[in-house]
Amino acid sequence: MEFNKGQKIIGIRVLSDNVIWLWKNSNSAVVIDPALSQPVIEYLKAHNLNLEAILQTHHHSDHIGGTRDLIKEWPNVKVIASAKEKDRIPFQNLSVRDGDKVRLLDKDVQVIEVIGHTKSHIAFYFNDNVPVLFIGDTLFSAGCGRVFEGTYKQMYNSLKKIKSLPKKTVIYCAHEYTKSNLIWALDLEPENQIIKNKLVEVEKKIALNKLTIPCLLEEEMQINLFLRADNLKRFSYLRANKDSWV
Ligand code: ZN
Ligand code: FE
Repeated sequence: MEFNKGQKIIGIRVLSDNVIWLWKNSNSAVVIDPALSQPVIEYLKAHNLNLEAILQTHHHSDHIGGTRDLIKEWPNVKVIASAKEKDRIPFQNLSVRDGDKVRLLDKDVQVIEVIGHTKSHIAFYFNDNVPVLFIGDTLFSAGCGRVFEGTYKQMYNSLKKIKSLPKKTVIYCAHEYTKSNLIWALDLEPENQIIKNKLVEVEKKIALNKLTIPCLLEEEMQINLFLRADNLKRFSYLRANKDSWV
């Protein structure tokens, strides 16, 4: 997507379903959760871009796997990660906490802690002409992250934080899970026409080999059962249901 002053965010597909987001202007770039280094290095070199920062949402290898090699290539790069993850994201050189602000590509980027998937997962948010959220594995289009280290209550509260952002927020999640999430949602709500329509739209994009993300908060409020859950009991029911769904 394209926004203010020629800045752009592009997605690089890697592994089976990861998407590495690359946010750039005409001479610098910020990369979010580089699972691998090679495709990022190739892109940045081909476009003559300096790597200003790497944002890490959490410690899983499919999010930090490429970071060490990117540091070798750009030794001055800022590696921004949760101060609570110094052991599991050891190469971080700019440690942040909930509410911190970092200046990147001329914008104030805010750190929002969204725990549940891991015990110290963070997201990165900025509000320019378009509000943008890099959410890692906390939210997916029509789905949410598995609760590995936290509690259902923590994850539910993290989703509430997302819901409090402007409705026009564009959400960049780290996996392309949209289609299977929608099929699951239709299992639970077979008559839901909005979700049916969304599935048709998503299948068209996939047939054209296009990404189905980023997603828009406003639309997720309609198609994402986890975001629609208005109490912890309902959220917990959905999360457990999805965990055992095949
Ligand atoms: Zn993860
Ligand atoms: Fe992941």
